[in-house]
Amino acid sequence: MPRQHITTHIAILGCVCLGLLAYLFHLDQPVSVYAGTTSTAQDFDSPGSVSVVVNKQRPLGDPGYVPAVLIETGGISLRQEAAEAFAQMARDAEASGVAITAVSGFRTAESQARLHDAYTGRYGTEVAESISALPGQSEHQTGLAVDIGASGGECSLKACFEGTAPGAWAAANAQRYGFIIRYPAGAEHITGYAYEPWHLRYVGPDAAGKIHGAGITLEEYAGLYEPPSAPPSSAPGKNAVEPVP
Ligand SMILES: [Zn+2]
Repeated sequence: MPRQHITTHIAILGCVCLGLLAYLFHLDQPVSVYAGTTSTAQDFDSPGSVSVVVNKQRPLGDPGYVPAVLIETGGISLRQEAAEAFAQMARDAEASGVAITAVSGFRTAESQARLHDAYTGRYGTEVAESISALPGQSEHQTGLAVDIGASGGECSLKACFEGTAPGAWAAANAQRYGFIIRYPAGAEHITGYAYEPWHLRYVGPDAAGKIHGAGITLEEYAGLYEPPSAPPSSAPGKNAVEPVP
């Protein structure tokens, strides 16, 4: 074999080995793992991170937090990444005959407080806490959440929104733009909120695809939810009490 061919072969082998090392190193990054879903290291804590997890247990460190940059889109304001993704999503939905309107985006701590007070006055504390956040605990304050609606206003901010054209379109497609249905049905014990098919949260297309694909919540994706341990075995023990019929 000519000498230059051998040199070329060695060079190719070297590249393959380096590529393999890079791949293995990538796999070795810290990840959050949930049921086979892995995500590369993400910042779930900083309010400026698109991955931040804000809920009743994890309020914003600064209750008066305001994102550094807010962009107006469709009559609301969102952080730049979320605003651009929302505008693209609304355009694509419209191209397929579905009109998605933005009902609410970024909210200041003050406007969140007013909203929460209004709900408390209308429905009482318990209901208000299941449908609206306290100031400093709302994703809307991060500029990453948008409530969407139908152009005719049908099922606005109601669970039946899932059955409207924009509700169904968002449930099937929002993840491609980096949005998730943040409060899915049946996950109130994890998210702290009742089902909100209208509340979309921007987390970026990679995370959104994984969360949507696995059918999990952001809390589970971030490794922040511990399922309750299995109930004790029902096998009768020495001191087991016979159930009374
Ligand atoms: Zn919302």
